[in-house]
Amino acid sequence: MQDKMEVWNPEGLSRLRRLAIKWFSENGRKLPWRITSDPYAIWVSEIMLQQTQVATVIPFYHRFLASFPDVVSLAEASLDDVYRHWAGLGYYRRARQMHQTAQLVKEAHAGVFPTDFQSVRELPGIGRYTAGAILSFSADQRQPIVEANTQRLYARLLHLKQETTSKTGQSHLWSFAKLVLPKRKGSGSVNQALMEIGSQVCLPKNPLCLVCPLSDLCPTFKSGSQAMIPVPKPPKDFTDLREVALVIYDSKGRFLMRRCGSKERWAGLWDFPRFDVTPCKTEASEAIHVAEQFRERFGKSVRIGQKIHELKHAVTRYRIQLKSYEAEIDSSVRARWKEEVETLWADVDELSKLALSSSGKRLWNSVLRNRNDE
Ligand code: SF4
Repeated sequence: MQDKMEVWNPEGLSRLRRLAIKWFSENGRKLPWRITSDPYAIWVSEIMLQQTQVATVIPFYHRFLASFPDVVSLAEASLDDVYRHWAGLGYYRRARQMHQTAQLVKEAHAGVFPTDFQSVRELPGIGRYTAGAILSFSADQRQPIVEANTQRLYARLLHLKQETTSKTGQSHLWSFAKLVLPKRKGSGSVNQALMEIGSQVCLPKNPLCLVCPLSDLCPTFKSGSQAMIPVPKPPKDFTDLREVALVIYDSKGRFLMRRCGSKERWAGLWDFPRFDVTPCKTEASEAIHVAEQFRERFGKSVRIGQKIHELKHAVTRYRIQLKSYEAEIDSSVRARWKEEVETLWADVDELSKLALSSSGKRLWNSVLRNRNDE
């Protein structure tokens, strides 16, 4: 990064703000969360937008606010009801944390969403970016923000040589994010405008430099190094896991489901009984291991039938191969049913309404498809 770069100078910064705001007023998308100053609604949108596209979020945002118009109504809803409104957005952890946060705001802040940075930052699921976004968009506070789009945009405007996630890279990006904001009012608009330019113009691949309002100020454009900045991250180091899920149903056609415990991957969501078989070398040894694990956890013997589905999915740094089998509980054994975690026998209708883990949902869809084909 060069020290004397134009975007670090007061004149350059003020020009950058002017150009960004002008472009935004003419080109910015009219999104529903941009026409409100309610911190609760902005918070809902920010959490929904994490890892989810704008077009997907819009209908969920409207439905969610229609059912939970304020933080108290969200706090007083049941978690299952919140999950139901979230179904289809994925990453249910966000919904669970929002529910917890709403309860905390109700208890600790008398049901009023806080407006000081520290209090907002301390709420579950709200990081530095989200706290800054809520307060700058709702109350025009001078809070810097760095998220995926501004991170890429600022890296290019600064010609950042470090990886954006490195300590030095982050320090440069956040310093610039603060510096770019006007001293008095207008921080909310500047943040919105720069996020929008990052998202709509300064694209990860093939940025639209020829129509970019900031191209005159951009050293990355001038040096033609858009493909090298941001500096690419090294590839992820994955751990491979193998798991088996059991689709167990009783004589009434109800399926055995379990709710994932608080320390598990999909805490709070429902899933088919699932077992790690990574150490097993063959399918026969997997079946023995799963039967033993089932007896240990649920207190009953299980008969494992035919394989019905196989899928691969990735969660954080894990690559998981999931095989699923039909299975039956051996009711001839009069052992006590152990409930190590919350379990449920759910019929087809009930199961279709449960908030399932993402791979549990894929498995359930496959079970339904197989039943319809029969
Ligand atoms: S000129 Fe190109 S690289 Fe520079 S900020 Fe604009 S879109 Fe991004």
